[in-house]
Amino acid sequence: MMPNRPAVLATLEDLAAWRDDVPTSPLVLVPTMGALHDGHRRLIAAAREAGGTVLVSIFVNPLQFGPEEDFDRYPRTLDADLDLSAKLGVDAVFAPSVGQMYPDGFGVTVDAGRMGAVFEGATRPGHFDGVLTVVLKLFNLIGPEQAFFGLKDIQQYAMVHRMVADLNLGIWIRGVPIVRDADGLALSSRNSYLDQSERAAALALSQALHAGAEQSAADQSRAAAITSVADAALARAGQDHAEFRLDYLELVDFDTFMPVPPDAQLPGRSVLAVAAYIGNTRLIDNMLLGAGWDRPM
Ligand code: AMP
Repeated sequence: MMPNRPAVLATLEDLAAWRDDVPTSPLVLVPTMGALHDGHRRLIAAAREAGGTVLVSIFVNPLQFGPEEDFDRYPRTLDADLDLSAKLGVDAVFAPSVGQMYPDGFGVTVDAGRMGAVFEGATRPGHFDGVLTVVLKLFNLIGPEQAFFGLKDIQQYAMVHRMVADLNLGIWIRGVPIVRDADGLALSSRNSYLDQSERAAALALSQALHAGAEQSAADQSRAAAITSVADAALARAGQDHAEFRLDYLELVDFDTFMPVPPDAQLPGRSVLAVAAYIGNTRLIDNMLLGAGWDRPM
């Protein structure tokens, strides 16, 4: 028998009415764009373990897509998402229309600042302004005590931390490790765009990150040694797969999102981050390096 479907909240009024009567605290938010896969499943499972009420939001946010990006063809699978949410014991799904979130006259947005203009923000101008705007709206509408984000989108995770600190939001932001397929490819809703040979080419991302991580574990590596090993792995992928085009591969300090200088030792919380186009599909991946990840955020 199918478990009960969660409450489906399509309007701000539905949400406010549901919000008046949340069964148990903490109220925990898992923001998504839907097309739920095992990465989201892991996020929801972690949110359930917080022991309160879990609300999953499903909203393909037009504000975070550039004009040439895939907003129109982004996968939308609400029925399947609701079935999965029911199986995972989600209490409510907030799935608003674009008009609910951005009614006529909408005009004020969050400025993601310097950290929002590098790496993902350099290739996708305005992306993080759009992300932070929708996340802040969700926080204000829902009022969660905790919110779960995947480390798959590591710069987004860093930026949400930054916003919570800078705007004194008082919400506990919790991170969930990247879920990968058996061959190493990080799960993403955009993997559904890949054909068979593109899927093979995409493996270069995680392979390069592994090579870099092994190098960093081997000795007290400097940044340049780590990135050059990873770069070599990506160059091989570029030779073998015409579909593969690197956007960036960088070792950054998580706390600032500044590149680690080539001669520097690894900061405690470092991220080896990569983005590449595989045919028309842009994928990102990363690995956490350094010994400082046990410190509380
Ligand atoms: P999205 O629906 O792609 O916006 O993702 C919603 C949330 O799921 C974000 O916090 C993502 O970082 C997280 N997420 C997406 N893919 C993965 C993955 N493979 N492993 C862990 N978290 C993920």
